[in-house]
Amino acid sequence: MKKIFIFLFGAFFLAGCALNLVTGRNQLSLVKESDLRLMAVDQYNTFLKENRVLSSGSSRDAAMVDRIGARIANAVTKYYSSEGKESVLEGYSWEFNTIDDNKVINAWCMPGGKVAVYTGLLPVTQNETALAIVMGHEIAHSIAKHGNERMSQAMVQQMGGMALEVALAQKPQETQDLFMTTYGIGSQLGAMLPWSRQQETEADKYGLIFSAMAGYDPREAIPFWQRMSVAGGGNPPEFLSTHPSDETRLRKLKQFMPEALKYYNAAK
Ligand SMILES: [Zn+2]
Repeated sequence: MKKIFIFLFGAFFLAGCALNLVTGRNQLSLVKESDLRLMAVDQYNTFLKENRVLSSGSSRDAAMVDRIGARIANAVTKYYSSEGKESVLEGYSWEFNTIDDNKVINAWCMPGGKVAVYTGLLPVTQNETALAIVMGHEIAHSIAKHGNERMSQAMVQQMGGMALEVALAQKPQETQDLFMTTYGIGSQLGAMLPWSRQQETEADKYGLIFSAMAGYDPREAIPFWQRMSVAGGGNPPEFLSTHPSDETRLRKLKQFMPEALKYYNAAK
């Protein structure tokens, strides 16, 4: 009995593991990306209704977020078509919104390209280039399907491996909360799970390439992450606690820099 269980459990995991074209590694994905995108549309629209959204017509900050978003979206499309991997962006329909909340030092990107930037992040980014580096980083998490990995783990641990659509029908609130926690949205849900070190390194690398291709100097990433680390102080903001800023990050960013600079120089 136990053996059968282990076999079935193993098969379940094998079936749910897929080679990710972005990261080049096998990632757990028990949830269909198309289901996550549908859920993202719902959750994003609800979120926008419940928060103060700045319009790019009347806010220079929102106009900046829109401008960066358009340039990075363009760069990402170019990057994957040059690699013959257009399927990576299947179902993407980009939206960029600026949330008027000075207390939240955060930004995120849901599956399908639904992005939010909080005004609380802007005193730390201080300039358009640093904000482009953060947005590139968040967009890279989304394109690398890191949320699917996390959501899949949570579905196994908290929903007994239930399919997403079944969970949504039977436990709608719990499933929606799980989704929001997975993508690091809404601090009222308690402690955030940190992205894994590997996911962070991947998001840093591809985020740097995307923002460099969009014409933003990748070297700004170093002082920016140093500022983030200071902004943390004794009481780290939510954004920092999910994004460990340390020597390892800075060292890896410096390693990626020559490659990112090639993209930046080609974009100039
Ligand atoms: Zn991250």
